[in-house]
Amino acid sequence: MRRERSDELYGVARGLMPGGVNSPARSWTGVGGSPLFISRGKGSRIWDADDNGYIDYVCSWGPMILGHTHPEVLEAVKAAVDAGSSFGAPTEAENKLAGLVVDAFDSIDLVRFVSSGTEAGMSALRLARAFTGRDKIVKFGGGYHGHADSLLVSAGSGALAHGVPDSAGVTASLSADTLVAVYNDLGSVEALFDAVGDEIACVIVEPVAANMGVVLPAPGFLEGLRRITEDAGALLIFDEVITGFRLAYGGAQSLNGVVPDITCLGKIVGGGMPVGAYGGRAEVMETVCPLGPMYQAGTLSGNPVAMAAGAKTLELLAQPGVYDQLESRTARLEQGLRKIFEDSGTPLTINRTGSIMTLFFNPGPVEGWSGVEASDKEAFGRFFHAMIEEGVYLPPSPFEALFVSTAHTEADIDATVQSATKALGG
Ligand SMILES: *Cc1c(COP(=O)(O)O)cnc(C)c1O
Repeated sequence: MRRERSDELYGVARGLMPGGVNSPARSWTGVGGSPLFISRGKGSRIWDADDNGYIDYVCSWGPMILGHTHPEVLEAVKAAVDAGSSFGAPTEAENKLAGLVVDAFDSIDLVRFVSSGTEAGMSALRLARAFTGRDKIVKFGGGYHGHADSLLVSAGSGALAHGVPDSAGVTASLSADTLVAVYNDLGSVEALFDAVGDEIACVIVEPVAANMGVVLPAPGFLEGLRRITEDAGALLIFDEVITGFRLAYGGAQSLNGVVPDITCLGKIVGGGMPVGAYGGRAEVMETVCPLGPMYQAGTLSGNPVAMAAGAKTLELLAQPGVYDQLESRTARLEQGLRKIFEDSGTPLTINRTGSIMTLFFNPGPVEGWSGVEASDKEAFGRFFHAMIEEGVYLPPSPFEALFVSTAHTEADIDATVQSATKALGG
């Protein structure tokens, strides 16, 4: 495989941007080697700067659920650009996407658009604090909600310990207000609420964890969070930045029936453009400026080009059969991979729901962060590189989800399984 051009571009990039990237997940530090530079995409495929083609299972980490350069999305974007790309004044495009979001999510009466999932999570926390008048928040170890300071905190030592920052530059006083519980362990949440329940503004959780690889909620876990938060007068925030419009049109909450107070959206809602959103019932959302005292703003929020991409994407996703197709294609991939890994004797646990899944090189089961961490990262790295050679682009990290789009055909899936057989040396 030729990769001279990618390597050359990476060399230039490293002289211009920290690590040569604008987001660390792109840098291949989790698998070793230097990243490929991508020059174009179409449907399920992407091509790198040396013109090698790949079946793409990153899909921009989720947004490209319709595949790359979907003609109807492109047309909507081009029409929006022709009309003017930003005004800093209300546009009808915002009404359109907001209407689609409010219709999709029963728990959302009012929605506010921002420009990233990070902004959505950061704003949702501020909203929960403003609404409850409390300072502390609860998150889960291994849960990712963007890079807002309060959320860059993972597991401290001991369930009641104050959070320890995951990043330099997060102040001790900020992380002290972030309490960290164990995903799928309601007891760890109850312990925090027993200790300081009247100071807790909210619990923020991915209803299906997808940033420590895919980890499904244990039966009763989300219901338990709903009960605990309600009893304590705290809000429940579902971060559906990945799961919204992905697992079902109405997100994970439409499948599990647990109703959050605030929902965070991102990724798919922008159809490949920078959009995030947070929304909830009117009583809560009326706290947001200019109706209420919680300040939050954005020069490019609700950008008309981004709104057009999001609205067209949602309209296409709302058509009948879309989620059944995503389910059956991804199930086919799961079954194919399961079989060849079994045949090769490589210990593997596949966690999948709908069109997201993770291959853990670990006999499993993987039901939380400790199982995730116990996976063989080197074995994943070898598999990743062998798949690249075979023309399959997996997420360059053992702890991420892979994403299937509506553009992935059965032939793509079967070719991927074939490639995996070769990658495993079969
Ligand atoms: C990607 C992600 C975010 C952050 O979104 P950005 O657009 O990258 O800022 C937040 N929460 C979850 C669950 C995510 O997967």
